[in-house]
Amino acid sequence: MKCRICGSEGAHRAYVAKEMMLGLRDEHPYFQCADCGCLQIASIPGNLGDYYPDNYYSYSGVGNSGSALKQKLLRMRDTWAATGHCQLGRIMHFLSPNAKLASLRPAGINPTSRILDVGCGAGHLLHSLREIGFQHLLGIDPFNRADISYPNGLHIEKRDIFSETGQWDLVMFHHSFEHLPEQQANLQQAFRILAPGGMALVRVPTVSSWAWQEYGVNWVQLDAPRHLFLHSLNSMQALAAQTGFQLEQVVYDSFALQFWGSKQYEQDIPLRDPRSWAESPQNALFTAKEIRAFEQRSRELNAINQGDQAAFYLRKPT
Ligand SMILES: [Zn+2]
Repeated sequence: MKCRICGSEGAHRAYVAKEMMLGLRDEHPYFQCADCGCLQIASIPGNLGDYYPDNYYSYSGVGNSGSALKQKLLRMRDTWAATGHCQLGRIMHFLSPNAKLASLRPAGINPTSRILDVGCGAGHLLHSLREIGFQHLLGIDPFNRADISYPNGLHIEKRDIFSETGQWDLVMFHHSFEHLPEQQANLQQAFRILAPGGMALVRVPTVSSWAWQEYGVNWVQLDAPRHLFLHSLNSMQALAAQTGFQLEQVVYDSFALQFWGSKQYEQDIPLRDPRSWAESPQNALFTAKEIRAFEQRSRELNAINQGDQAAFYLRKPT
């Protein structure tokens, strides 16, 4: 078996993981590269599309709801999250954080930045950026049903990164990169369409984590067979080097799912099961207090670079 990231044909360790989000429980062989550590599916199923049900993406909830005051407070919070400006927003963010937007801050963006979101789904994140005054935004996702145009001027187009020819300051993949069969080609294309000094932000689950060590094939973010590549710190470094990027920073941003989702899989309870915390907390294995403790433990794991997902900041040299 040849690693698709570093090319190693070393003594890779084999695993079998079950489809557990939907609860199909069919088995998929994976292996973890003995050299770069990337856990990857042994062969990509020909019917991968069947594993993305019609309700996979959340298309609801994009847009403005609530009173004018609530919307104003949310805009302050989001301004703080994305840019670090707006002190009142800092308090709002403490009370009700927006982790996804906060992951953009190390990229040093401002409202004139040109930002492309690859695999954006309905475009929740870009919609929030548009609401706080960002002008040059585009979302693309080949798996959307059609193009989307929002009243605030945001456009989401149904296509992949290879058709993109513009020039961007930030190209980001928020938990979309692990679904892509062509890892190098996608990152190479991101490099091509970035301005010199621009940044690719890749947020992915990672096997350089406590959860992978603890739960193995029951690790909830393995998510067979949708997640084709579960990168390690080493394999992301290898990808960056192959595509011309400098890996500038890694920020762990895991949350409680790594505990409760994986513990459910250990008990053969799928993510979308009526007994899942995601579906009906009253029927789940956990109390709200336990979930809060999982959140606290997630913050502790993130602080020691052991959370089960991370944001990788890749700089295109000037
Ligand atoms: Zn490898």
